[in-house]
Amino acid sequence: MKYLSTRGDTTPRGFCDILLEGLAPDGGLYLPERYPRIDAATLARWRSLPYAELAFEILSLYIDDIPAADLRRLCAATYTEQVFGTPQITPLKPLDEGLYLEALSNGPTLAFKDMAMQLLGHLFEYELARRGEELNILGATSGDTGSAAEYAMRGKQGVRVFMLSPQGRMSPFQQAQMFSLQDANIHNIAIEGVFDDCQDIVKAVSNDLAFKREHRIGTVNSINWARLLAQVVYYFAGWFQATKANTERVSFAVPSGNFGNICAGHVARMMGLPIAQLVLATNENDVLDEFFRTGTYRVRGTAETHETSSPSMDISKASNFERFVFDLLGRDGARTRELFGAALARDGGFTVTPAEFDAIARYGFVSGRSTHADRLATIRSTWQRSGVIVDTHTADGLKVAREHRQSGVPMIVLETALPAKFAATIREAIGIDPEPPAALRGIEALPRRCAVMPADAAAVQRYIREHCAA
Ligand SMILES: *Cc1c(COP(=O)(O)O)cnc(C)c1O
Repeated sequence: MKYLSTRGDTTPRGFCDILLEGLAPDGGLYLPERYPRIDAATLARWRSLPYAELAFEILSLYIDDIPAADLRRLCAATYTEQVFGTPQITPLKPLDEGLYLEALSNGPTLAFKDMAMQLLGHLFEYELARRGEELNILGATSGDTGSAAEYAMRGKQGVRVFMLSPQGRMSPFQQAQMFSLQDANIHNIAIEGVFDDCQDIVKAVSNDLAFKREHRIGTVNSINWARLLAQVVYYFAGWFQATKANTERVSFAVPSGNFGNICAGHVARMMGLPIAQLVLATNENDVLDEFFRTGTYRVRGTAETHETSSPSMDISKASNFERFVFDLLGRDGARTRELFGAALARDGGFTVTPAEFDAIARYGFVSGRSTHADRLATIRSTWQRSGVIVDTHTADGLKVAREHRQSGVPMIVLETALPAKFAATIREAIGIDPEPPAALRGIEALPRRCAVMPADAAAVQRYIREHCAA
């Protein structure tokens, strides 16, 4: 399998060529040159596989530059009961008749990002050892991504993580999760500033090409194809649990921000998984809901980006969205380049043609939005009806899922985080403090490792230089 760029660069690259990269050189995102179609016999054979085996089968359709025995071992090391809490890895929890939650948040950081990031940790360690190289991952986080990256990379050979976060602005639980890690290859840097200051420093350091090359600076952001690929697996796993036969269709509802999670659902559907609808849910930051309702994609400015109680969906533009639009436009790289390059820079957005808009229905997408009041009402009613506490992001998904139910079609809502991560809003909704899992109780009291620095790229570069001397 070869990979190409959404902006027209068709230089064939293998999976391991793009594994450690971010954007393609032309500024586009990588996609496989085609989506392998799964026939009925294969689907039937996969139905009884354990999660790690299913992951191996799906990944091996897209990865032909890692020997099969090695890939199978990496999948087996990643998707264990010990790391994800249950033998099924992503069990379904029934709510109402035909309505399920798929548990994706039982990994070490209690959010679905672990599903992909844990695999990435194993893949990075493997590929870096094979090349005899090292990588210094530099990132900025306001919460979920940073902790998922650190828990995936802790103790891995050949990888160091330098994670910037705005000092004092993450929730106490999130700070404790990250800062209590004692692994020598994990470096927390609290910046005296806001999240945007952290991101600006990452950009400044990455744009210093000499420094970047000399210190082998890399990222683990959500546009990484390997992360998306790992997420395809749980759409299959969820579908198998909700069906008995290949002919049955299922819909998925996905709390969305950067369009990574639901893009994996799009890939699964393109492979032939019988998905009826892909229900995209946003919070008050409704860039994507607006597109799927109107055909206009309009990027928001900072002033228009709301701070909400489902903060991991507070985005002003959706970094993975270009992948779907490329497919929607019949994989026309020149037109994708025009829309996401020139038009975005010139007009801050674009509108697809009426014919292109009509084509969206063929891809199964529908959408909706949810507000703070909706979240509270959904958390409350789910608790009262089913005795289940959902987190704020999952509540957004559940609210929009209910608006799109079709009779006879099961609906699976992806649970993207556990409620303990967003305790304040849960308390507001139902007056109960959600408990973190036993292993994480009391982490607020553990000793912490974290350097505090002014918002200054040169200071961060000095710190990296000092801490990656061999
Ligand atoms: C990252 C995140 C999302 C958004 O996922 P995307 O892949 O960016 O669409 C939703 N919920 C939670 C809890 C997250 O951490």
